[in-house]
Amino acid sequence: MPPTKIWLSSPHMGANELKYVQDAFATNWIAPLGPHVDGFEQDLQNFTGVKHAAALSSGTAAIHLALVILGVQPGDLVICQSFTFSGSVNPIAYLGATPVFVDSEKETWNICPQALEEAILACESGKVSGKKQKPAAIIPVHLYGMPAKMQEIMALARKYDIPVIEDAAEALGSTFKGKACGTFGDMGVLSFNGNKIITTSGGGALLSDTEWMVKKAKFLATQARDEAPHYQHTHIGYNYRMSNVLAGIGRGQMEVLPERVAQRRRNFDYYKRGLGNLSGISFLEEPEGFHSNRWLTCMLVDPEKTGGITREDIRKYLWEDNIESRPLWKPMHLQPVFKNAPYYGGKVAEKLFENGLCLPSGSNLREEDLERVVSKIKEVCLKGLKVNA
Ligand SMILES: *Cc1c(COP(=O)(O)O)cnc(C)c1O
Repeated sequence: MPPTKIWLSSPHMGANELKYVQDAFATNWIAPLGPHVDGFEQDLQNFTGVKHAAALSSGTAAIHLALVILGVQPGDLVICQSFTFSGSVNPIAYLGATPVFVDSEKETWNICPQALEEAILACESGKVSGKKQKPAAIIPVHLYGMPAKMQEIMALARKYDIPVIEDAAEALGSTFKGKACGTFGDMGVLSFNGNKIITTSGGGALLSDTEWMVKKAKFLATQARDEAPHYQHTHIGYNYRMSNVLAGIGRGQMEVLPERVAQRRRNFDYYKRGLGNLSGISFLEEPEGFHSNRWLTCMLVDPEKTGGITREDIRKYLWEDNIESRPLWKPMHLQPVFKNAPYYGGKVAEKLFENGLCLPSGSNLREEDLERVVSKIKEVCLKGLKVNA
């Protein structure tokens, strides 16, 4: 019999999700609106400290709406962190705008402020598109839960007067200097996809302190219905609201979120303790003031120091033991679909992709699961060192 499967990051329900769902059934609120949607939005506001929240069908939908709300038009330039999941970027293309990709820095793995300024200046001087264009938005991402350098990023955004859409899809429960990720930009985005730190099976949210933005998001997300007894429309709308049934799951998940963050942080500590001393293996540390939810524990593998063992060797070795791990996100500027998009920066993100591996990080992993992963990685690394000796 093969050993039991260890997943990268699987859903982890608490005690009350089903009660909220049953309540939705009992009251027949089976609709893309309802009391659980309102309650879930209130929970998100209370937890993050943001003034307004809209629960939506996905994180990608939230980014799409944020761009629409900022008035992004075909031909506009939108600056985005290259090192991310495609959900951060695809909505730029939905609107016919052009993504301008920016490299990461080494301390948080997120958008590099220096390269960001370079990209802004290139847009504004006409180097990017042939005409002088102010970027329509900046999208920084808190990848794997690690906050981006929001102080520097917001300072640049203010200096050049460019709105910020903060992609906090992976960072619910993360903070920078005590302030929640998703609350720094003009708008923030969360995701509740099945693999995220909490889930509604699928879902997302848009956060903002600016009331009209969230009001507009709710309006656009329900087919942009004007106030009238009949169906009356003056705008193009979307069907992007969250179902009341799924918001019920979300309410239950919010009750256990602090525990989930603590559990994921314990995973990180366990891996670092077990593997951090191996030659060529390293982990991303939290700089002063940065608090990560450690959504996924990521490990860097330097083949020059592991005796030639690469992240792929480790990934395949784990896979043979029924353990799921995954390379870090492949940067967007290296994706075939975005091969013509402009890019600013060096090879930080590229290098991270080459050498990085996400380890099983679910909050439902048992200590024996973590130990199994650690011992398998030790096995393959020690093999490499022996071969080389
Ligand atoms: C998951 C994710 C998204 C998209 O969220 P969905 O809810 O899956 O649409 C966007 N950006 C990042 C960084 C993500 O990890």
